[in-house]
Amino acid sequence: MLLTLTTTHRPATDLGYLLHKHPGKAQSFPVAAGMAHVFYPTAGQDECTAALLLDIDPVELVRGRHDRAFTLNQYVNDRPYAAGSMLAVALSTVFKTAMNGVAKSHQELADTAIPLRIHVPAVPSRGGADLVAQLFEPLGWDVDARTAPLDPQFPEWGDSPYVDLRLSGTHRVSDALRHLYVLLPVLDNAKHYWVTEEEVTKLLRAGEGWLADHPSRELISRRYLKHRKAYVRFALSRLAEAEETDEDALDNALDEPVVAEEPDRPVPLATQRRGSVVAVLKAAGAKRVLDLGCGGGALLTDLLKETSFTEIVGVDVSSRALEVAARRFERTPERVRDRLTLRQSALTYVDQSLAGYDAAVLMEVIEHLDEPRLPALERSVFGAARPATVVVTTPNVEYNVRFPTLPAGRMRHTDHRFEWTRAQFRAWAEGVAERHDYRVRYLPVGQDDPEVGPPTQLAVFEVTR
Ligand code: SAH
Repeated sequence: MLLTLTTTHRPATDLGYLLHKHPGKAQSFPVAAGMAHVFYPTAGQDECTAALLLDIDPVELVRGRHDRAFTLNQYVNDRPYAAGSMLAVALSTVFKTAMNGVAKSHQELADTAIPLRIHVPAVPSRGGADLVAQLFEPLGWDVDARTAPLDPQFPEWGDSPYVDLRLSGTHRVSDALRHLYVLLPVLDNAKHYWVTEEEVTKLLRAGEGWLADHPSRELISRRYLKHRKAYVRFALSRLAEAEETDEDALDNALDEPVVAEEPDRPVPLATQRRGSVVAVLKAAGAKRVLDLGCGGGALLTDLLKETSFTEIVGVDVSSRALEVAARRFERTPERVRDRLTLRQSALTYVDQSLAGYDAAVLMEVIEHLDEPRLPALERSVFGAARPATVVVTTPNVEYNVRFPTLPAGRMRHTDHRFEWTRAQFRAWAEGVAERHDYRVRYLPVGQDDPEVGPPTQLAVFEVTR
């Protein structure tokens, strides 16, 4: 299946910066059950076209090794050719950064609506060409959708359920990608994996800024979430609130950091950090421990090694992170693994099942949340879960000048929403402690530089009531 995206905004080859794919190269990426190829059939100053070709292996699909929840059970189907949910997933994999609207060197252009044309030759549309118009026109696209005959040789067989779709309009590239990401599976109406709560988050995130006002938002939510009523209701209620999506599910968090923290040191900073956290937890006598925002589970490994921790729960909002963590423990002996549970949960919501633990860790997590979301995290961790001990670590931005490879003013990781000075961290921590009856103390992690302090700052909160 094929999708092309064309711009005539000059210099048109800047499209390469927006998509983070060089116009001079053909690149391939493995995606669920196949390969996605990105190349530029045209790359001139006046016009530039990027093509995404998705090559699905139908056998692999059915075997479902990459996508266990895949539900089609026959080997012959339209999946390799029709641009439905799989193309949407490929878009979000291959153009993830572009979809998030980030283009480091060309941010202004990424934030600008530019003339775009999109062509998808075979969109499965349960609802025909009319539905395509109903979905894309309210968003400001000119829609040319032609229903293809089932077989041109036999017109009497009637129309196929596919349309040849051409869209043109002036949009930010990120918006265009997000429109496609949501609406292609909606047209297809046959999403090929189980709907989970995470899909609600994805829908809300991709729909930010346009779905709440869309006249067909109910149909879109219903079909995207495959008629799962509770989810649909939840999504619609959240759209009604028309606020930012809460979890901001941070898939990005697993990306490579901008700077490898202290690569030359004999003990890497990340190792020192985990060591400090484990030491604090042991000193506190904690037995049942939460690793909140556990990511790929590096700390969970260290916690499992200490038998004094009898129950360990890794919590993360990102299912990708949890998958990585789960894989890490695939070969762990069962009696060890029995002490570990992985849970998907958003720390910005109160989750009653997190109450009653001895300790919680927020290691390098708070800086991944937008600052206005911190009060929600504070409420759920210090107000509701209320473990006796909470350990929080976060970068000390003052130390950034000591990283020779980190450009001035840049944060250590592309997904960091903020990096605080020691004073800023302390101001936040003192406030939290006071509001929730904890006392707080601070420990340096890594070399405590006399001028700029340690690379990582760590706070230990202990409940006083
Ligand atoms: N603690 C791990 C991972 C840090 S990266 C480590 O130090 O290696 C930050 C993690 O926090 C990511 O895995 C991200 O998915 C998670 N996260 C961010 N916001 C979250 C939220 N609102 N709820 C739960 N987890 C969140």
